[in-house]
Amino acid sequence: DFAEMSLKDIDQVAKSSFPLCMRHLFEKGVGLKLDDALAFWKAEFSRKVGAERFDKEYAYSIRHNYGKEGKRTDYTPYSCQKIISSTPGVGDHHGCPYRQFSEENLRAALGKMGVGNRALEDVIDKVRNRHYQLACTLTFEAVHGTSCDAGINHPNQYFSDSKRILE
Ligand code: SF4
Repeated sequence: DFAEMSLKDIDQVAKSSFPLCMRHLFEKGVGLKLDDALAFWKAEFSRKVGAERFDKEYAYSIRHNYGKEGKRTDYTPYSCQKIISSTPGVGDHHGCPYRQFSEENLRAALGKMGVGNRALEDVIDKVRNRHYQLACTLTFEAVHGTSCDAGINHPNQYFSDSKRILE
């Protein structure tokens, strides 16, 4: 089943290469407008499968996936600094999870990403000191088992750096 396969592929990329903020939006099924999501995944997947196959197989399942979701809000991929300094409203899924999540939820989310105990405590320590981007950088390093000297400054940078390492 092509539709299922492609959704699984998308899930896989989200799991391996999304920063926590994008992951959160993706799991909630909100945040990315359909057109933005299609453009994003097309750019990403057409490199692998070709634009034509993307339109035939992947676009359908993305539309289908989004069609099931009700309310959609804009997700503009701002820099981390801008995301961190903005205050999301109640029920809004924007924002930097390192700043917005309770410690309990953050621990659970990091555990799901595969961040081990030692690294997890280091991440929490950064969060307590309000160094959210450093917390994200440590997460990146823990998940990929490599250093990220430039630090994380943009969700898209996290994604592209991750892809570069994993490909
Ligand atoms: Fe997203 Fe940036 Fe926060 Fe990381 S530091 S979760 S990339 S907003």
